[in-house]
Amino acid sequence: MKNVLLPRHGKVLGRLAGARTLLAFDFDGTLAPIVRGPHEAMMRAATSALFERACELFPTAVISGRGRGDVTARLGGAQARYVLGNHGMEGDGETIATKSLLNEARVRLHSLVNERPGLELEDKGYSLAVHFRRAKQPRSAQHAIRRVLATLAHPLRTIGGKCVINVLPEGARDKGDALLELCKEARAEVALYVGDDVTDEDVFELRQPARVISVRVGRSSTSAADYYVDRQRDIDVLLRRLIALRTAP
Ligand SMILES: [Mg+2]
Repeated sequence: MKNVLLPRHGKVLGRLAGARTLLAFDFDGTLAPIVRGPHEAMMRAATSALFERACELFPTAVISGRGRGDVTARLGGAQARYVLGNHGMEGDGETIATKSLLNEARVRLHSLVNERPGLELEDKGYSLAVHFRRAKQPRSAQHAIRRVLATLAHPLRTIGGKCVINVLPEGARDKGDALLELCKEARAEVALYVGDDVTDEDVFELRQPARVISVRVGRSSTSAADYYVDRQRDIDVLLRRLIALRTAP
């Protein structure tokens, strides 16, 4: 993994100066810092202004685990061309008959969070998220969630994350599929994707270095991303570079 902001890797971002580029970002932990309560997440004012400018200069996408309406409301005045929610499953005006696949999990997890303080069930329609950031014993909370999921009649896909377990229908479109579809739609030759968490690995694992420049927020020895930035705050540096690429004489 290489630090994408180091001058010696300048050529990597230079590839994005061309006309047929798509910029794509995760939201929590990438455009916005991780906060204790998922409802409080927002971009810093500086990031917000930079992101707004980037959206004017490039076709831009946000692909988040949040519901589409939820993440859209957090983008402020920025006009991102594409906003996908539910890890890429929820697009613009699509109707995917996946919601009912989650019914059993919805009911069972609902009882679990009522029994155990500190757990929170977030129902995003196309996917569920069980947050255990506020649990007194996060490990035991996590085990309890996994035990419930293991006994479902129809197994679902689960993806871990930062104090969260995401529950999705098996075989549903993931962030990697979503990004490739957006590239097609935007007729992009190259895309930048920045993310910080386990669901973003679906993009990193595409391993198409000619088409997708994958950047992880935070260095990790287990990530499939080719590049990283040290910390969330560096998103501002990255956005500034991208803006400079497009506005250079
Ligand atoms: Mg994230």
